[in-house]
Amino acid sequence: MKSRMKIKVLIVGYEIAPFYKCGGLGDVMGSLPKALRQVGVDARAVVPYYQEISSKFEEKKIGEFHIHFGSKEEQVSVYEGFSSEKRVPIYFLSNRPNLSHISHWGRNKKIDQFAFFDLAVVHLAQFLKNKGKWVPNLIHCNDWQSGLIPLLSRKHKLNTPTLLSIHNLAYQGWGSRNVLNLLHIKDEDLKELKCGVKVSEINLLGEGIMHANFVSTVSKTYAFEISNGENRDPIHLLIQKRKKERRENGKISGILNGIDYDVWNPNSDRFINQYDKNNWQAQKEKNKKELLTSLGLDDRPTFCFIGRIDMQKGLDVIVKCAKRIVSLNINLVILGSGDPNIERSIKRTIQKCPLQIKAEFVYSEELAHKLYGSSDFILVPSHYEPCGLIQMIAMRYGTLPIASRTGGLKDSIKNNINGFLFEKDSTRSFVKTFKKALRIYQNSQKYKKMVERAMSEDFSWRKSARRYKKLYLEILKKSSLISLS
Ligand code: ADP
Repeated sequence: MKSRMKIKVLIVGYEIAPFYKCGGLGDVMGSLPKALRQVGVDARAVVPYYQEISSKFEEKKIGEFHIHFGSKEEQVSVYEGFSSEKRVPIYFLSNRPNLSHISHWGRNKKIDQFAFFDLAVVHLAQFLKNKGKWVPNLIHCNDWQSGLIPLLSRKHKLNTPTLLSIHNLAYQGWGSRNVLNLLHIKDEDLKELKCGVKVSEINLLGEGIMHANFVSTVSKTYAFEISNGENRDPIHLLIQKRKKERRENGKISGILNGIDYDVWNPNSDRFINQYDKNNWQAQKEKNKKELLTSLGLDDRPTFCFIGRIDMQKGLDVIVKCAKRIVSLNINLVILGSGDPNIERSIKRTIQKCPLQIKAEFVYSEELAHKLYGSSDFILVPSHYEPCGLIQMIAMRYGTLPIASRTGGLKDSIKNNINGFLFEKDSTRSFVKTFKKALRIYQNSQKYKKMVERAMSEDFSWRKSARRYKKLYLEILKKSSLISLS
């Protein structure tokens, strides 16, 4: 393949906006292929064909293949669809028992499901090749749900080079090693599985880390944090082991995610009174009035939180400081769903100050857009944050982030310029920074300057798509599949 030819990359994930989205990976899957195509990479995506997706778009069945999974011969149907107006081809893989929904029946069932998906992706590449259709030069895997693809690609002699991007090291896909029988993999193939952790279990992300041609993550700071074992997780043994074994590319590169400017644009957002840098003050004020009226809140400086209700996101910091921040005469609106224990602790906090804090424990695209388009500040007190998209979306909407100094938050927020950073896990630093932000809000000239600076930042995929392209080329070059002469 000559370098002038377009690189063909198959991007694999378990969610993709706008068809099926649980969090940031859905945003990335929905927007990165589009951005890559704009910089000359022939990128396509592949996801499971969940039931929820089937009502959302018009697809075309392009064929089917069979895979040997355990003692069964399973049929996988391949549908091809296109994302919105940008026409990114997406392959949807359909198999009723394994790919129609994400199992909530225990982690082993989930592991089996995604092992099936990974095997199906490897067969998809083979299927496309056999049909003389589009054949990927590289498979870009994302998170543990596609962690077995590098290994399966070798085992099934596909030998397509792979990149594994880690979007969150805390989710690793631990489960029973019975899945190996389903995949017909022998222990000898898998010495990495016994990486000195729990030999009775399989760790899908760990497998990906050990077998992928290259590993990346979603910000430079998070790459540093995980390479230096900041969170003392057994998976660091694997990262260290990989570093030793592959001296030439042991480094984990960090490429910051971008946001989809077609979806996140205050000037075309159908859920809000639209605005840009020139008229944001009046329009945001209108949005805020509407929001506060609908929630029964008085007109005060308004802070929001949007995200999964999970330990990672630092809601415990907000709960611990609630009394102190509420005494500053502010509103706080929380949107998120997840851990019922954390939700309960938020409900208890609200009971103490129901006139200033509201929470909606749901997943609502509409309310998320409204909060970005009406709040004065967004709180992002994460204990760790690989990249984080909400702070970037918020800044594009002129909503200043108050965020922990960690991972992608540190890499995307310029303290006191387009947002505020506080020392992570420190309630003292959080309250101090919160007060500083409020003082700046009251000094409207400085606040205005910061908002306009935040709205002017470039959080599009443009730069990062180029970085991925460069990385793909390096991987292909190292895999001797490309001549750059
Ligand atoms: P993570 O991937 O860790 O969940 P990110 O900050 O990378 O966090 O991305 C979160 C994405 O999910 C953003 O697009 C955010 O707007 C969206 N989101 C999170 N929770 C909700 C919710 N309850 N309702 C609507 N959108 C949500």
